[in-house]
Amino acid sequence: MTTIADQLYAVRAQIAAAAQQAGRAPEAVRLLAVSKTFPATAVREAAQAGQRDFGENYIQEGVEKIAALRAMPDMPALTWHCIGPIQSNKTRLVAEHFDWAHTIDRLKIAQRLNEQRPAPLPPLQVCIQVNVDGGSTKSGCSAREAVELARQIAQLPHLQLRGVMSIPDPQPDAAAMLAVHRQVVAVFETLRQLPGLERLDTVSLGMTADLDSAIAAGSTMVRVGSGIFGARDYSHKG
Ligand SMILES: *Cc1c(COP(=O)(O)O)cnc(C)c1O
Repeated sequence: MTTIADQLYAVRAQIAAAAQQAGRAPEAVRLLAVSKTFPATAVREAAQAGQRDFGENYIQEGVEKIAALRAMPDMPALTWHCIGPIQSNKTRLVAEHFDWAHTIDRLKIAQRLNEQRPAPLPPLQVCIQVNVDGGSTKSGCSAREAVELARQIAQLPHLQLRGVMSIPDPQPDAAAMLAVHRQVVAVFETLRQLPGLERLDTVSLGMTADLDSAIAAGSTMVRVGSGIFGARDYSHKG
C-alpha cells in the first residue's frame, strides 16, 4: 500500500526535479500540503514524515483540524494556510487561527483580518489572489487591481504581504499553461517593484496537475492535495 509518507517523498522529488530542470534551487519551492476533506490523522501522518505547511479551504473544517492537531501529543508546530474563499463573516476565524491567508482579493477582507488579528500573534501572512485567465465570475483581482490592493495592504500593521496566489484554469496544452503561469509571476514582479514591497517573496501557484509548469514559471509555493493524500471524497459535504 502506498502511504502518505511515500507520496510526500514522491512529490518532493518531483518538485526537486522540476526546479533543477528550470535551473532553480529545490529549496526555492515550498510545499504546501492541502489537507482539505482529509482527517487530522492524515495531517499527523504527513507531519511525522516531515511536512510542516498545511492548507485548508473550508474555514470551519480547518479550525477544527488545527485544534485537533494542537491537542495531539508530540506534534511539532505546524503552519496553517487558508487557501479557500473568505467571506466577511469568517474573517475572525481566519485571523485568530491561521498563519497565512492566500485568497485576499478585496480591501474590505484585508481590513477585517487586520482588525481581528489578535495582538499577541505575529502578523497574518497574506497573498493577493490574482485572476489572469478567467472572466469576472472567478475569484481574484486583475493585475491592475492587485497593484492598488498591495499598496493598501502594505499600510495594515497586522498583515504582512508576501506575494500573490492564483488558481489558473487548466489549459489545452503545456505551452498555454506555462504562458498563464508566467502571467501570474509577472504580476508578482510588478508588485515587487513598488516602493516598500521589495521583500515580497511568494508566488503561491501550482497544484498536483500543473506543478511542473508552475515551477518552470517561477512558483515559490506549490499547493498539493491529491498528489499527497489521494483522491478527495466530497460526499459528506452539503
Ligand atoms: C484543493 C486545492 C488545491 C490542491 O489541489 P490538488 O489538485 O488536490 O493538488 C490547491 N489549491 C487550492 C486553492 C485548492 O482549493
